[in-house]
Amino acid sequence: MPLPKAELHLHIEGTLEPELAFELATRNGVELPYADTDELRKAYQFEDLQSFLNLYYELMAVLRTEQDFTDLANAYLARAAAQGVRHAEIFFDPQAHMARGVGMGTVVEGLWRALGDSEAAHGVSTQLIMCFLRDESAESALETLEAAKPYLDRIVGIGLDSAEVGHPPVKFREVYDAAAALGLRRVAHAGEEGPPEYITEALDVLGVERIDHGLRCLEDEALVARLVRDRIPLTLCPLSNVRLRAVDVLSEHPLPVMMDAGLLCTVNSDDPAYFGGYAGDNFDAVRKTLGLGEDRLRELARNSFVASFLEHDEERRARYLAEVEAYDFR
Ligand SMILES: [Zn+2]
Repeated sequence: MPLPKAELHLHIEGTLEPELAFELATRNGVELPYADTDELRKAYQFEDLQSFLNLYYELMAVLRTEQDFTDLANAYLARAAAQGVRHAEIFFDPQAHMARGVGMGTVVEGLWRALGDSEAAHGVSTQLIMCFLRDESAESALETLEAAKPYLDRIVGIGLDSAEVGHPPVKFREVYDAAAALGLRRVAHAGEEGPPEYITEALDVLGVERIDHGLRCLEDEALVARLVRDRIPLTLCPLSNVRLRAVDVLSEHPLPVMMDAGLLCTVNSDDPAYFGGYAGDNFDAVRKTLGLGEDRLRELARNSFVASFLEHDEERRARYLAEVEAYDFR
């Protein structure tokens, strides 16, 4: 039995495996420029952020109907459950779908058909976090929030993702204020490729409760002290960091340094179909490569539930935390 954990940094579009991409392409009559799944899997060996993003957006074309989103989410939940994920807070990118004519309702209702049944079907509780693409305009983010209003009972919070540099958090002040007024929780990607100032700005200007990635906080001692003092969770994604060259090799990943500093770190998979593994694979990788012992692994699992948005169900959180404490590594 794998270590129980929550996954807090997972883009559902990044869970599209080559086999499902081909299945959906056939179902929807979408032509993919790859002969078969083997050739497509080779394309997943991209070299940098831009070639990853090109492939990521190209393959989204196969997602057309509610059923496609349901199938995508069910495939993820089955894999996550097999790796010990007990609770998942799942990002989705509505702008990437609306731009190609797939409506907010199709995306949310389709995902919800899987998420609503997830506890019974997979033993995984779930929440949905709507992300804005930060390389799109602030106006587009506001329109997206407006389009989501009929579905807010299914969305726990908002996030900010895609290309970070040149798109500081302050650009999205207005939409974050509007989301806060609607009672939505707030997170944002910051300090992955962008500078530590973006982390500070996400906290001060956007009022975020968690930082996605946040690796570069280490460049600012005062910021680290603040993150430790205020118990701000960081959702780290070690295998993603290597594939997108935020760190050169996994053995140089600063996770142990960050934990030693007292930061509230969690380990997640980001876009697992593309980055070489799901949540449990990321845990295995840091255990083997960074030499994390049982205490550290248990701490990471505990942190994932502490950092999750389970305030509406503290009983559940306590149950998950008890599972972590009772876990036997042998
Ligand atoms: Zn991400």
